[in-house]
Amino acid sequence: MSTPHPVILVVNAGSSSVKVSIYAVPEAAHSNVDIQPTLAAHGQIEGIGVAPRLVARMADGREVTDQKFPVEQVADHDAAFRLIRLTLSVALRDTPPVAIGHRVVHGGSEFADAVRIDDDVIARLEALVPLAPLHQPHNLTAIRAIRGAVPDLLQVACFDTAFHAGRDPLTQLMALPYAYYEQGVRRYGFHGLSYAYIARRLRQVAPDLADGRVVVAHLGNGASLCAMRGGRSVDSTMGLTALDGMPMGTRCGSIDPGAVLYLAAQGMAPDAIQAMLYGQSGLKGISGISSDMRALLASDTPRARLAVDFYAWRAAQEVGKLAVTLGGLDALVFTAGIGANAPDVRARICAHLAELFGIALDPAANGDNCQRISHDTSRVPVLVLPTDEEGMIALSTARILRETGGL
Ligand code: ADP
Repeated sequence: MSTPHPVILVVNAGSSSVKVSIYAVPEAAHSNVDIQPTLAAHGQIEGIGVAPRLVARMADGREVTDQKFPVEQVADHDAAFRLIRLTLSVALRDTPPVAIGHRVVHGGSEFADAVRIDDDVIARLEALVPLAPLHQPHNLTAIRAIRGAVPDLLQVACFDTAFHAGRDPLTQLMALPYAYYEQGVRRYGFHGLSYAYIARRLRQVAPDLADGRVVVAHLGNGASLCAMRGGRSVDSTMGLTALDGMPMGTRCGSIDPGAVLYLAAQGMAPDAIQAMLYGQSGLKGISGISSDMRALLASDTPRARLAVDFYAWRAAQEVGKLAVTLGGLDALVFTAGIGANAPDVRARICAHLAELFGIALDPAANGDNCQRISHDTSRVPVLVLPTDEEGMIALSTARILRETGGL
């Protein structure tokens, strides 16, 4: 297939995977309005350095490739990116991209929006690595690799933190000596690309709710919740790093910081503590089986059940906290892998919220992952909206491309 439109590449480099999507920028996006670019193809490599597997598909679902590689051939992110790019360029008869949009996890307090990448931006993103040690270095590797190969190509950084910028200082504070807050030790919030997409989508599908007090639960491998008023973030469950808030696939969520001090005093090294908090905790840590919600729902061991019960109870608690910030609750939205696909987990979370918020699900609508899953009698409407973080990156990249005269 060849595409008549300019194309944008969206790169999402995670700790053991790289995802690349190709978007076509429609003619109308040349005008001054934000028009959503259309997905043309998607490729991803998982298991980098362990058991690399490349899967690539066109947007209509046609498979381009699905193959496993020897570890030596895809030993790092650089190699993975080159391989995906090559695969997708064959699929698109090599239309060179006019811009690349990157998912970047941490933008600190400096970046309140997507930004064109230059050497100064790269240096500032490097300074934020300690705040997102498992994600930010991979985001930067992809940026540097492309800058080295095609220095003049427009690259745009889109941040998981940016949607939360400008929140009331009260919601950014941790009760440490104030000097640390001034140094940037504050609660930033993450999954902002997902929340920005959901805010936009909610305005399309339920404009009556979009201006209200809304809690969005992004429940994927990482998980957080965001309180929105009028489509803007006013609070979220994540903090300085993506460890805070509710428990996740392998991350612990909020814990007593005294537990960390205790483990350190017992002789556990900081690196080992970090690896445990990010990689061995959450659903995986409690169940001892898996970080994957599907595996836990399929298991009848007491600890798998305990992990799911704890997850649902903590998610519901966080809804309560955010409702306090909002001063009420007009809608609850579920999104991401678990949020959009796991009726059982949504039902368990909502059961905790029934009495306090008058939430009642419609079991059939919930079972079918319908857009509105609450019963007509529910005091608070509950929605399921699949997220599209990469589409959001494509949208911001097309805007910056237009603003810099590239379209
Ligand atoms: P990431 O945060 O890596 O983008 P996802 O948003 O894809 O992850 O979410 C992954 C999680 O979603 C996994 O725990 C997976 O088990 C869960 N999930 C995906 N589909 C289902 C399903 N049908 N039922 C239950 N859980 C699901």
